[in-house]
Amino acid sequence: MADGTYDYDLFVIGAGSGGVRASRVAAGYGAKVAVAEEYRVGGTCVIRGCVPKKMLVYGAHFAEDLEDARNFGWTIDSPKFDWSVLRDNVLKDVDRLNGAYTSTLENYDVEIILERATLTGPHEITLGGGRTVTAKIILIATGARPHVPTFPGSDLGITSNEAFHLDALPPRILIAGGGYIANEFAGIFNQFGSKVTIVNRSDQLLRGYDSALRDRLLQISITKGIDFRFNAQFRSIEQTEDGCLKVSMTNHEDLVVDCVLFATGRVPNTEGLGLEHAGVAVGDHGEIVVDEYSKTNVGHIYAVGDVTNRVQLTPVAIREGQAFADTVFGDNPRTVDHGCIPSAVFSHPPLAAVGMTESEARNTYGPVKVYESDFRPMKNVLAGRNERSLYKMVCAETTGKILGIHMIGPESAEIMQAAAVAVKAGLTKEQFDQTVAIHPTMAEELVLLR
Ligand code: FAD
Repeated sequence: MADGTYDYDLFVIGAGSGGVRASRVAAGYGAKVAVAEEYRVGGTCVIRGCVPKKMLVYGAHFAEDLEDARNFGWTIDSPKFDWSVLRDNVLKDVDRLNGAYTSTLENYDVEIILERATLTGPHEITLGGGRTVTAKIILIATGARPHVPTFPGSDLGITSNEAFHLDALPPRILIAGGGYIANEFAGIFNQFGSKVTIVNRSDQLLRGYDSALRDRLLQISITKGIDFRFNAQFRSIEQTEDGCLKVSMTNHEDLVVDCVLFATGRVPNTEGLGLEHAGVAVGDHGEIVVDEYSKTNVGHIYAVGDVTNRVQLTPVAIREGQAFADTVFGDNPRTVDHGCIPSAVFSHPPLAAVGMTESEARNTYGPVKVYESDFRPMKNVLAGRNERSLYKMVCAETTGKILGIHMIGPESAEIMQAAAVAVKAGLTKEQFDQTVAIHPTMAEELVLLR
């Protein structure tokens, strides 16, 4: 399709969730496409995010499953965990996925350029090796990177990027942050036997989730042995003579650990990208500002995924990449609906949510009806595990329309995916009640709420 004026119809910067989807679909419509990737094809989710993280979560669950198995009649003699076996198997699967994503792009004749790319003109891209190419349309899909606070010794810490490659399991780990990545890694390392301390600058975990779930996770995490230090600002990290890290912070005693992991937010990857050479506008957080078609202020430059800081989740980046390619190359203008997006935290136990929290709903609608089920899953009862699940449904008072569902408990993310369809479709509590329960399950609580 390239008309000779430019080297490519589409040049994509970043082969992550959004960039891969956009490249493949645009090429499928007949466009001549190249994608530049400075690290590994697949991006954060596949290489050092959702996928390897979830595998570690699975690995971590065995700690409790093996313990619980006793009351189910199993004798398991002195189980042992070997971090290097899990780590290497996970990294092997990451290699497999990296290969699969590369093959998919190659099968669609997308040219893969394994170099950093920056903008050097409105239609011009300069590659790490110095070569310059031109494209009619440019898509920026560079994602986000971990934000590490700057203070003396902060460079002694690691981020989630490095967590997947640790040589050995740290006996004591400090995890900085209160968001989903911090809580997920806290659960993982705690189950593997590390002494975990979460240090957070505010007194709240998981901002944006319903407070009842956040409280429940905190309570269960403390019971499982995770320590929390709230309202703490870092002062310094010093390496001690024996190679440990001494962390000093406000409002709390110094803490000596073996590893500090920063999970203190992610910032859009726009630094040094050359956006100024093309006149692309960025917002207050360095994010690329786009309209509902993911178009920037420059007519032929688009951006999708985390770099736009709309909703930093893989399925959202994929949808944005697909909608971009359909719109620009498929003659099928499409936007992405960013409302009512379900999400999960793969903590121990996991939590999941869709729609408004109770307080958001009250602020928006005034009076609302809230239904709750606070129960001990059958498996936990027999296992002798005193850990309760909590399901919560927030409904409009007059119509009964479901405004939000919030769950913490085993498999809540799996259950939520199906429930989210109903919430997105605007169903009511009554319609849930009309559905016969599947018994005995945990999910049946959703149609039996009183
Ligand atoms: P990315 O997938 O980050 O891809 C961007 C790519 O651009 C990268 O490969 C990068 O190397 C490349 N790049 C950047 N700059 C340049 C340049 N100048 N030149 C060339 N290449 C460049 N989301 C979920 O939905 N569920 C989860 O469970 C989940 N868990 C996560 C766990 C962790 C630890 C992390 C860090 C993230 C997690 N996420 C999760 C978020 C998810 O990974 C991102 O939302 C998603 O990857 C965003 O896709 P993207 O295409 O915008 O960017």
